[in-house]
Amino acid sequence: MNWTNLYENTRGTWLKGNLHTHSGEGMTPEEIVRRYAGKGYDFLCISDHMKLNTHRLSGKSGFLLLHGFEWNSKVGEHMNLVSFRKPLLARSTKCHDQKQVLAWMAGEPVLVILNHPNWQEPPHYSREDLMDRPSAAGIEIYNGLIDFLSGTSLATEKWDYLLSRGRKVLGFASDDAHSPPHVGNAWIMVRAAARTPGAVFKAVRSGNFYCSTGVTFDVIRRQGQVITVAARNAREIWAVGEWGVRLDRVRCGRIVFDFATMSSAYRKYVRFVAFGKGAAQAWTQPFFMGEPIDDKRFSPFVGKWRLSRLVTTPLSQIKAAKLSDPSLDWTDVRTDAVPEGFVNVSRRHGSNDGVCYVGTSVTVPRDGVWTVCLGHDGGVRLFVDGRQVLETPKRVNPAVPDRSKVNVRLSRGGHEIVAALKTDSGMGQGIMLRFMIPVSVRKLPRVPVFPESLPLCRVSSRR
Ligand SMILES: [Zn+2]
Repeated sequence: MNWTNLYENTRGTWLKGNLHTHSGEGMTPEEIVRRYAGKGYDFLCISDHMKLNTHRLSGKSGFLLLHGFEWNSKVGEHMNLVSFRKPLLARSTKCHDQKQVLAWMAGEPVLVILNHPNWQEPPHYSREDLMDRPSAAGIEIYNGLIDFLSGTSLATEKWDYLLSRGRKVLGFASDDAHSPPHVGNAWIMVRAAARTPGAVFKAVRSGNFYCSTGVTFDVIRRQGQVITVAARNAREIWAVGEWGVRLDRVRCGRIVFDFATMSSAYRKYVRFVAFGKGAAQAWTQPFFMGEPIDDKRFSPFVGKWRLSRLVTTPLSQIKAAKLSDPSLDWTDVRTDAVPEGFVNVSRRHGSNDGVCYVGTSVTVPRDGVWTVCLGHDGGVRLFVDGRQVLETPKRVNPAVPDRSKVNVRLSRGGHEIVAALKTDSGMGQGIMLRFMIPVSVRKLPRVPVFPESLPLCRVSSRR
């Protein structure tokens, strides 16, 4: 599987289906198929509890059935097993030890999906339980039945936990229908090479599908580090990164996401959620970033900083400041790990309004030109050795790395860099700064050279 782009294979047609539904309670297999076909589904797996359903369709309906069942233990763990290896499945219906069954499935052409992790009673899989079952190909990130039971149908927070811990695991949406009202609430769209059960199974196993409760993706495409996702019936699309952090958001049906512009703290993977009318959503599988790109062009974030007291001069009239000026009541601060390199100004100034100087001192090993990349939320003026080099007065939350860039020529030796940040009553919360080798430099040196942090000199404080 190509986890940097599970949608790489663009041949085939999108087929709608559900791998988790039950017969019984008044729904015979024939009736289930009739109900799903009536809602535009192309395929189904009738997954009864501990019983392999080998129902065959009569006539030439074109509807596809995959074989499988829902395995469950006496203490409540549930998982779906889907496969064409009927003897292996039949044997598993007799075993009540999940670890044993999972061990049998490892390496076999079986799709193992851990079901409804957020069903509360009986309690289902904890994050650690899910981590502990590595042979499962996927988890249900949405199970429609839980809307009718205790807990939550959505389990994307557990998915993000697994993905952030490096577990490559697919997300599934299912109805888990036990009676007619449950039919047609959540499904997967699979890009299958042919309209056969085997082609659907192969496409699902390769991850070429997405989950939906009503939104349809028209485009899911990756080119290099840029991913484009479009859904004509979406009102909003989010790009979600590691630990569930929202990296980007558009209030329309099309998003273009570039890994290269993302903070390295959250960009191990990105997945997309589209929101449509009412509660309708759709979820792509994750795209792992793969090989880090162009990182040699960037220095680490500058880690040593000093914050001043608040100054009441408006940003538009603010002058440069010196780190040696004791009247500014400088204090040393450490940068945050999340987001990486963040100098948190509001930790000192809370929701007070004014301008805070954020200063550092660097040494440059040789003369040259570097791009200063400044992340910030509040408006800023940036000074290098007392000279203004940049002004971006508008506040944009949150602070993202590299929002404002400027090329600066620096001679060998020490330099002072000071940003004046408007705190905007606590909405301007901080900055992050790193250097970049200018884009005009085509061939990167084998060992890039950057300005480096100097120990900050002692300032005699007024306190
Ligand atoms: Zn079920």
